[in-house]
Amino acid sequence: MELRVTCLPGDGIGPEVTSQAICVLEEVVDGFGHDLELDEKEIGGVALEKFGNPLPDATIQACLNSRAVLLGAVGSPAFDHNPRELRPEAGLLRLRQELGAFANLRPAVVYPALAGCSPLREEIAKGTDILIVRELLGGLYFGQPRSIEGAPGAREAINTMRYGEPEIERIARVAFQLARTRRRKVLSVDKANVLECSRLWREVVTRVGRDFSDVQLSHMYVDSAAMSLVLKPAEFDVILTENMFGDILSDEAGGIVGSLGLLASASVGGPVGLYEPVHGSAPDIAGKNIANPLGAILSVAMMLRHTFQLAKEAECVEAGVISTLKGGFRTRDLARPGARTVSTEEMGAQIAEFVRLAANATGQAAS
Ligand code: NAD
Repeated sequence: MELRVTCLPGDGIGPEVTSQAICVLEEVVDGFGHDLELDEKEIGGVALEKFGNPLPDATIQACLNSRAVLLGAVGSPAFDHNPRELRPEAGLLRLRQELGAFANLRPAVVYPALAGCSPLREEIAKGTDILIVRELLGGLYFGQPRSIEGAPGAREAINTMRYGEPEIERIARVAFQLARTRRRKVLSVDKANVLECSRLWREVVTRVGRDFSDVQLSHMYVDSAAMSLVLKPAEFDVILTENMFGDILSDEAGGIVGSLGLLASASVGGPVGLYEPVHGSAPDIAGKNIANPLGAILSVAMMLRHTFQLAKEAECVEAGVISTLKGGFRTRDLARPGARTVSTEEMGAQIAEFVRLAANATGQAAS
């Protein structure tokens, strides 16, 4: 298969982690007999510096011409005082819209080798394997009207939470379909005791659920879900929720696994999938070769599975991550105080080597 991918390394640690993820992808392509057509473009602060625009047209075009986009991170303190549309983050928000990526998938898995990294007691954290399915293009973050108006001292701010039935239905279908590939449980999270949007959400999700009678559907208020996540994270399977609740709950689930550097994400639903680690540009550690590349590498696994339907190849990358962690390799964010650590490049190289050997072994077994 030809894999047409655009890579947007972005700012800070973005280029460090995406270069490792691309090394792993290249091993997959070589080892499993695919072709990679890779384009690299600017986004965020680097694009602002070069073109005065956080999402240049050439970047959008390259992304729309490919089947999947791998993004590092955007954001730099140098642009903190710019107006909203001239900040690096504006480029990423617009890219998600341009790609029509309405379904944000964020797995949070506590790997057995890292159960001790969770801030929760090991017996509570172990076995956690959650997939958050967050609606990404609606709700409070995009609803109109939005404004800050009035005279200083008496200003009023307005945001609007708005959801239509088709928007709820399409994200619900994604969650139910994904649940069928897992433990067949969907928990829909809302605030139906207070919000009209949530009442409509619950009604539509319940209706869609009737088409998936093999999947167990339950509902929970967001405040209760936030508490249950830290009390019994291992009981959750797929969590389906709207934009803002998903933003908050997915960071909470991320906290449970122990390091932001481990988390991958996929934004799908449009013609081109967007894959990115959950972390930001981490300016405090950029350029030091100490960032954890696993979130970016696991984003490549998600790309192989969700855009290219290459499940065997995705499993090989995930197995490489698990085996490397089992082997005791730790970047600084994962290591106990005083323990030996490896660099970003060494961590990436371990997983690339695993993929190379595993793909060769598969090829030899087949011949
Ligand atoms: P951040 O995720 O960049 O960093 C938070 C903390 O986690 C830092 O201490 C950092 O060193 C650490 N960290 C993050 N990723 C790591 C990794 N892979 N390995 C090891 N440690 C890691 O969040 P922040 O500091 O709030 O934001 C920094 C910049 O990133 C801001 O400009 C923000 O707007 C931007 N941001 C971008 C994205 C994105 O591109 N999707 C997401 C969040 C924040």
